[in-house]
Amino acid sequence: MKDMTFTLTEEQRALKAAVYELCKQYPPEYWRELDAKREYPDAFINELTKAGYLAALIPHEYGGAGLGIVEGGLILEEINRSGGNAGACHAQMYIMGTVLRHGSEAQKNGYLPKIATGELRLQAFGVTEPNSGSDTTKLQTTAIKKGDRYIVNGQKMFISRVLQSDLMLLLARTTPVDQVVKKTDGLSVFLVDIRGLKGFEVRPLRMMMNHSTNALFFDNVEIPADSLIGQEGKGFSYILDGMNAERILVASDSLGDGRWFIEKAVAYSSQRVIFGRPIGANQGVQFPIAKAHMAIEAADLMRTKAAKLFDAGEPCGPEANMAKYLAAEAAWDAGNACIDAHGGYGYAEEYDVERKFREARLYKTAPINNNLVMAYVGEHVLGMPRSY
Ligand SMILES: Cc1cc2nc3c(=O)[nH]c(=O)nc-3n(C[C@H](O)[C@H](O)[C@H](O)COP(=O)(O)OP(=O)(O)OC[C@H]3O[C@@H](n4cnc5c(N)ncnc54)[C@H](O)[C@@H]3O)c2cc1C
Repeated sequence: MKDMTFTLTEEQRALKAAVYELCKQYPPEYWRELDAKREYPDAFINELTKAGYLAALIPHEYGGAGLGIVEGGLILEEINRSGGNAGACHAQMYIMGTVLRHGSEAQKNGYLPKIATGELRLQAFGVTEPNSGSDTTKLQTTAIKKGDRYIVNGQKMFISRVLQSDLMLLLARTTPVDQVVKKTDGLSVFLVDIRGLKGFEVRPLRMMMNHSTNALFFDNVEIPADSLIGQEGKGFSYILDGMNAERILVASDSLGDGRWFIEKAVAYSSQRVIFGRPIGANQGVQFPIAKAHMAIEAADLMRTKAAKLFDAGEPCGPEANMAKYLAAEAAWDAGNACIDAHGGYGYAEEYDVERKFREARLYKTAPINNNLVMAYVGEHVLGMPRSY
């Protein structure tokens, strides 16, 4: 077993500090303006890519930094702790793992170096559909092989960053569900070059937060057969393989949000004087902040445990799921404590609390709902009867 201590190395502390420094060049006004216009943070993402942070998990041989999920998590956490929104770039870190683990040498050599330099962006991950939601194996988008092509038909819902990506990882059914032994069979993953794709329509959705989210329509879309990742019909297991990374990285987003809320709430309530004393001296204001801080610290321990297990190649499903749940709930509690501490100002756009509040809320729902995390823990960790 590799290092399982919970302190950061000197390199990890330096990485955190460097990411935070870069983020500080993108002040609250930058994120506020983009939020109002629902625009993508292109300048920030380009700089982050140029600095190599988005290629943290790509191995050296493909032009990346060859770091682990511990470091990937620290990068995302610092973006959110600084007041930014790592939701604009976190997917590249977790979906790229599917290409790395299951892609052919030609796919890895063809795409990963270009993803590392930023020449190609892979930020889109098409799983959710209007009629299947959390029940992924019921998805209805089909990819049928015809010669050297697959023909894709169907719809996807809530797929983020498609207009900002060159490539999308797509999950589609290649064998009808009534012709497979297990419903998880017959699903396949494709790495699709979506630039100028005929029959492919992207309809942006105005969401609660700035997340570049869309509905997608595939009408006889032809993709080259070599877009297939790994073996046909095994896609669901490839996606599952990537879930632990996704959970750990999203937990890191939430930890960053939680820390931003705590720092903001402490600063504001320590200087705001009402009834002749700082409001933070009142237990009604102070205790929810202290409680949220403890929850963030506890979630951080679980995130770090999950990340270290992951990097050591050990099983980490329970820890990754628990980290995602605990961090999302802790960030939400921190957000509520922060908005309460700010009184009316918590609702004013110029304080950024309401924006971060909307952004932090997402991780109770996506990429997997916290209800389903509890169902996982009940069934797979505690051995209780399956609920769905
Ligand atoms: C801003 C945003 C961005 C997103 N980006 C992406 C993306 O890039 N790619 C992508 O593929 N998806 C994306 N999603 C989709 C997201 O992953 C789904 O919303 C989520 O998986 C839930 O699916 P659903 O919305 O259809 O909810 P449903 O599956 O319909 O569930 C609705 C509610 O019922 C609950 N529920 C359902 N079944 C059970 C059960 N058995 N037990 C207990 N509770 C249950 C759920 O927990 C949830 O609270 C995004 C969503 C949002 C909001």
